[in-house]
Amino acid sequence: MKQKRIRAESGCGGHGAPALSVEEARARITAVATPIGGSEKLALRSALGRILVEDVRSPIDVPAHTNSAMDGYALRSADLPAEGTTTLAVIGTAWAGRPFEGTVERGQCVRIMTGAPLPKGVDTVVMQEHVEQDGEAARIGSGHRAGQNVRPAGEDVAAGHVVLTAGKRLQPAELGLLASLGVAEVKVRRRLRVAFFSTGDELRSIGEVLRDGEVYDSNRYTLYGMLARLGVEIIDMGVVRDDRQATREAFVQAAEDADAIITSGGVSVGEADYVKETLDTIGQVDFWQIAIKPGRPLAFGRVSKALFFGLPGNPVSVMVTFYQFVEPALRRMMGEAHAEAVPTFRVRCATRLKKARGRTEFQRAVLERDADGQLVVRSTGAQGSGLLHSMSLANCFVVLPADLDVVEPGTVVEVQPFYGVI
Ligand code: AMP
Ligand code: MG
Repeated sequence: MKQKRIRAESGCGGHGAPALSVEEARARITAVATPIGGSEKLALRSALGRILVEDVRSPIDVPAHTNSAMDGYALRSADLPAEGTTTLAVIGTAWAGRPFEGTVERGQCVRIMTGAPLPKGVDTVVMQEHVEQDGEAARIGSGHRAGQNVRPAGEDVAAGHVVLTAGKRLQPAELGLLASLGVAEVKVRRRLRVAFFSTGDELRSIGEVLRDGEVYDSNRYTLYGMLARLGVEIIDMGVVRDDRQATREAFVQAAEDADAIITSGGVSVGEADYVKETLDTIGQVDFWQIAIKPGRPLAFGRVSKALFFGLPGNPVSVMVTFYQFVEPALRRMMGEAHAEAVPTFRVRCATRLKKARGRTEFQRAVLERDADGQLVVRSTGAQGSGLLHSMSLANCFVVLPADLDVVEPGTVVEVQPFYGVI
């Protein structure tokens, strides 16, 4: 990767300099995030959430046999009466998993159950409601069509056809689909290794007592949760003090162990000294100002072979920048073919929203139905970037474009839901 070094005072990294738009920052990041090498073969269950590295072709036809779509009577279409009725001899029964072995001749039929393979000689099934059986005689009326109620072999998937393409994330439907083809093992990309640490002298670990001016390191847990959900191998390096030696050692270790490094805190202008100083010597990293709220400062680049994301320290900023910039990049590194940010959709806003012009805001909100059953979105209230509670109350972001200032109740806004269906 060719990467310019931009100091915090210049380019899109400085005070007063034009900030990067959210789209531009995302595009720059995803442009350098490429799939890691390495793969492994896994048993189907273990492959849940993993990414295919090669296309999967079906080894068999699905269904494997031409079979009945109905409970009814299997017969030769030549025996269907054009008008009136005809009577055929019932010579046996075909069950799903227990086929009728003989051949059905003219004037004969076989009682057949849904999913049972079609016996030799027949091409048509008449549903049982349209047949009167009396002992071994079946009376069938007119109005039926040759070939009806028959599911041909390979109708769902034909042998040799690609059913899943490389880059697909294996979700429950894909596990089932592969099982339906009898596929027991799949080749998936190796797990992405992501190292992360928090920076700040004010941070304490849970279990410790807070002294004046100290806060618990919550980013460690939010980041753990977001990374665990993504299915990467997590290397949790804890808190690194605002100290030259400690910062350098942490980055060197992280770059040795991981494909990607994420830090929180220590990237604001004036604060970035140790982080920036270290990265200037062992990496190629840009310090950006992004026209986003929350999450304006962001460092991005490379430390040795690892991609580096330096997120701001505020807890909500961490989550917003992770979802908007880091997650799409990590998904690309994991080899996922469709790693775009979660799409937005348009919903009427029930509350008044305020923002400053000039930055895209990701406000925390609740998507729900009003008394008339219409989807509406309402704010969770105060939007400070330290108010992590707002993320917990919310089920979506309202994405407000940079040029907007006030949203009056009733206005349609873009909403990005937190969770997908699957
Ligand atoms: P910074 O980006 O380092 O200037 O931090 C901005 C704000 O986020 C400060 O109030 C920090 O105390 C807070 N902060 C930084 N890191 C964390 C963390 N790991 N957990 C909770 N709060 C943090
Ligand atoms: Mg700090």
